[in-house]
Amino acid sequence: MDINVERSARAAAMSWLDTKKVDGAVSFSRDDRFQYQGQSIRFMSPQAGIWKPAEWTGALSISTAFTRPTSARPYDDAEIGADGFGRYKWRGTDPNHPDNRALRLAMEYHLPLIWFIGFTQGRYAPVYPIYLVGEEPTLHQFIVAADAIHQFAAVDLEFPNAEIELAYAARETKQRLHQAPFRAAVLDAYTCKCAVCRFGHASLLDAAHIITDADGGSPNVRNGLSLCKMHHAAYDVDIIGITPDLIVEVNHEILNEIDGPMLRHGIQEFHRKPLVVLPHRRSQQPDREALDLRYQHFLARA
Ligand SMILES: [Zn+2]
Repeated sequence: MDINVERSARAAAMSWLDTKKVDGAVSFSRDDRFQYQGQSIRFMSPQAGIWKPAEWTGALSISTAFTRPTSARPYDDAEIGADGFGRYKWRGTDPNHPDNRALRLAMEYHLPLIWFIGFTQGRYAPVYPIYLVGEEPTLHQFIVAADAIHQFAAVDLEFPNAEIELAYAARETKQRLHQAPFRAAVLDAYTCKCAVCRFGHASLLDAAHIITDADGGSPNVRNGLSLCKMHHAAYDVDIIGITPDLIVEVNHEILNEIDGPMLRHGIQEFHRKPLVVLPHRRSQQPDREALDLRYQHFLARA
């Protein structure tokens, strides 16, 4: 297939994912397909990690299967290197395996790919576009950046401000590789509803961190709460707090304010009410210690 046609097919694949996400999809499976010029094309290999549709030059997607966290390794971060960029293993150890060649060609042509990260059995959160920006043959792996502009900084140290750009690109990559599976896992655990108000449109729901990234909180479902945009923003600025016993509290000043229906019904009426949606599995419910730490922060500001 002509490389420019292939680029436009990739754009079609990514815009299909965009549309599904706007419609409320938070995750995808190996059976999902998109249409391009009358053809129905798979997003992922039925079994393997690397996927190149027939006739294409470079791989379209890579996938990582979900592995159950263990107590020794509560969160599997194997996909991210010490430099902050992603890592993706070759298929096997033969550099010339067709799958590995498909990845190398995607790298050489700067083709955008999709990384499907498994967050539960059979369900994947897509991160896209991603770019392969280097290869570490002795470790049998490629280096992944999740940023179109910065892929060049990663490979070209002559690029103006390469060092700053590189640090930024690594941060951005790490954040995006964490965020997508975290959001999918949290929304899935809360059956796509806000824990405070039960609002249920996925496109207006966020996975809120209990302990923030900056404070060392991990992108683990137990450090997450599914909240609508309004309650997420209110939680982040301590307008609402959540006690370790899962009760909502409203900041005193806000509680005494007089304003329209959004304040009254959207915030004040939830004061001292329990969370209404929680994961069924105990192992996915919010970590009490994390909630307590965050609640102390709320009290200090309230
Ligand atoms: Zn809400």
